[in-house]
Amino acid sequence: MASGTTPWSQQSAGRWLAECGDVDVTGTAQHEAWQRKALPPVERLRPDLWSIPVPMGGPLRYVSVYAFALDGGGLGLIDTGWESDEGWTALTDGLASIGGGVEDVRGVLVTHLHFDHLGLAHRVREASGAWMAMHPADARLVAGWNRRDGAAAVAEEVEFLISLGAGRDDAVADVGTAENFERFLRMAVPDRLLEHGDVAELPGWSLRAVHTPGHTPGHLCFAEERTGLFFSGDHVLPRISPNISSSASGTPDPLKDYLGSLATVRGTDPVEVLPAHEWRFRDLDSRVDELTAHHEHRLDELEAAVRAHPGSTPWELAAYLTWSRPWEQYERRMRIFAVTETDAHVRLLAGRGRIVSSGGAVATWTLAAR
Ligand SMILES: [Zn+2]
Repeated sequence: MASGTTPWSQQSAGRWLAECGDVDVTGTAQHEAWQRKALPPVERLRPDLWSIPVPMGGPLRYVSVYAFALDGGGLGLIDTGWESDEGWTALTDGLASIGGGVEDVRGVLVTHLHFDHLGLAHRVREASGAWMAMHPADARLVAGWNRRDGAAAVAEEVEFLISLGAGRDDAVADVGTAENFERFLRMAVPDRLLEHGDVAELPGWSLRAVHTPGHTPGHLCFAEERTGLFFSGDHVLPRISPNISSSASGTPDPLKDYLGSLATVRGTDPVEVLPAHEWRFRDLDSRVDELTAHHEHRLDELEAAVRAHPGSTPWELAAYLTWSRPWEQYERRMRIFAVTETDAHVRLLAGRGRIVSSGGAVATWTLAAR
């Protein structure tokens, strides 16, 4: 199933990808494979650290699972991959190719609750008995989803889109069926929590959790303090900008959170950045600066749209912004991403006092008086 039609994904809605050609690529085998549209190889990155690509549908193609050999035996993982039989085979074959097996896994760190990171965790736990750790903000959401049925989740998202200005028919059509939603609600609930600054219990390693909300409320990066490696999850990727969207269950100002989280990791000067998608790279700060500039540019573009079309809803404003393809072609999940990303920018612009809301159940937006 393509990620463009599924509820939880990671790539922004397709325009202004903040693409850049000048990051210092260290994952050259990953980058070469990308250009050939092939899956990259399993790679040994350090004597006791490997990356294992786990395939997924959609434009990102794979998630990189990181496997650590632990002092005293066994393996630790960062992330698990998109839930599918193909993904499971890639993960278990990958572990076999490094001389291990899924039954050797002792602990799993999950960067965030999206299906390409958490999806396979329940199979890993079943096969190994490993503990699984996340930030409490994402853990709470996953636990809540586990108790819900698909129809309730669909109804909540439909009402949320209506509150952003969608017509009911458009909202219902875009959100899709409860059956499609259901599998994304049934993910493994973590049995350990990691707060900002906590060091994960993986013997031989010193992986410190760095809370980086924005892409999700509980997104974690991991700074490895002995090697100077930085595992960035989806927070900082070398080519695309991660999806930053408002949602019914999210925080009030996710883009403010995200920009703050970019500032959190700036200046930490890691030896190398190991992201969950695309390829490894160096010079975290310059990529952080590009992503920050990209959102500031987008905020300016949105303010101009509000000036030209005062009294618009986020649903309407999305149509006035520039996208990578004609707006009329956006539908279903892609349109939801576009509108909720627009709304994330609306909320930050309002927070900065540049636009004001009409209030009410379906707010419209106008430039603030200066
Ligand atoms: Zn992802």
